[in-house]
Amino acid sequence: MRTSIQVGRIIGIPIRLHFTFLFILPLIVLMFAVAPGPFGLRDAKDISGPFRYSLATIAASLFFISLLLHEMSHSYVAMKYGTKIRSITLFIFGGLAMMEDLPKESEKEWRIAIAGPLMSFAIGGIFLFTYFGIKTVNLVIYDPLAILLFSIGLLNVVLASFNLLPAFPMDGGRILRAFLAKRMQFLEATRRAVLVGKTFAVIMGIVGFMPDPFLLYSTGEVRPFNLWLTLVAVFLYMAATEEESATIMFATLEGTKVRNVMRTENVSVLADMLITELAEKMLKEKNAEYAVVSDSGDLKGLITFSEIKELSTEQRHSLRISDIISPVDRLSAVISQEEEAIEALKRMIRGKKNILAVEEEGSGEIIGVITKRDIVMHIEILKGGS
Ligand SMILES: [Zn+2]
Repeated sequence: MRTSIQVGRIIGIPIRLHFTFLFILPLIVLMFAVAPGPFGLRDAKDISGPFRYSLATIAASLFFISLLLHEMSHSYVAMKYGTKIRSITLFIFGGLAMMEDLPKESEKEWRIAIAGPLMSFAIGGIFLFTYFGIKTVNLVIYDPLAILLFSIGLLNVVLASFNLLPAFPMDGGRILRAFLAKRMQFLEATRRAVLVGKTFAVIMGIVGFMPDPFLLYSTGEVRPFNLWLTLVAVFLYMAATEEESATIMFATLEGTKVRNVMRTENVSVLADMLITELAEKMLKEKNAEYAVVSDSGDLKGLITFSEIKELSTEQRHSLRISDIISPVDRLSAVISQEEEAIEALKRMIRGKKNILAVEEEGSGEIIGVITKRDIVMHIEILKGGS
């Protein structure tokens, strides 16, 4: 399922909008239109309905451009270090730059991480400086414009400060890890940074859920302080956990080659085999993934159990493997036995596949397959041994 759409391209980077972003956009416009200051136009004088919403739309656009510039700033520094930026996606909690092969050297990591907040501080500074500058020289300024300047400025400062929290996947978490990694191994630095991040998330979650102290004091009413904060905390906790397991996985696989993990028995099936025969073979050999080859041994595609499980009994008896597989290009479906296992995993994740065919270095002959399952099991065994 596609969850985001591409809307453009800046300095070669595809800019995408996630579906949750389309959901949050009208809410942000509404917030700017009706909320009281400092973020909303409620108290703006002499302003008609349509104009109010036009201004709110401009404010929302400026806010999202700010998010985009924050991510572009990370991306720009990362690109200088030779990292490929696959895309920048705007979603409900902000922006996310998808980078390939992010450098693990701490010097580079903290510079990439800090570039975003610095950009947000700079944008915030420009807006706030303009706002206060106009105020101090007593220039008459159109009221809604003043509110807009102030709120975009303040939002950027908030964005920068929030991102500096030492919690994954916030930029502060990466900066913290980079500094820890100067003193210890990358894996241990990640573990500690993740622990700090999780602690932050738990505290944030509890604070968000606790009764609002101001409301309780003034009216005696019990209402959660800020459920949005709790939601962000849950998201942060999950992201920290994911970062940890991904890092452990990559660190554990360091130095492992494809040939150490690949399967060399019961590797391939013929393209003209009936699906029902394939299903029996899977049961008998307890395998869920095969390379599909022609009579002459050429790779025709890859097949996994998930692709045949939806088929009806009649279909299984009438269709052949060649009828349901999609053609493969060798570049994304085949990997050399001498490549790193991490590279195989990355290619599977990128291509949304669970299997790659393995070719012999030099001859190009298909000699095995490597599956996500094999890699995960290999990691479990390695972890158990250490
Ligand atoms: Zn950032």
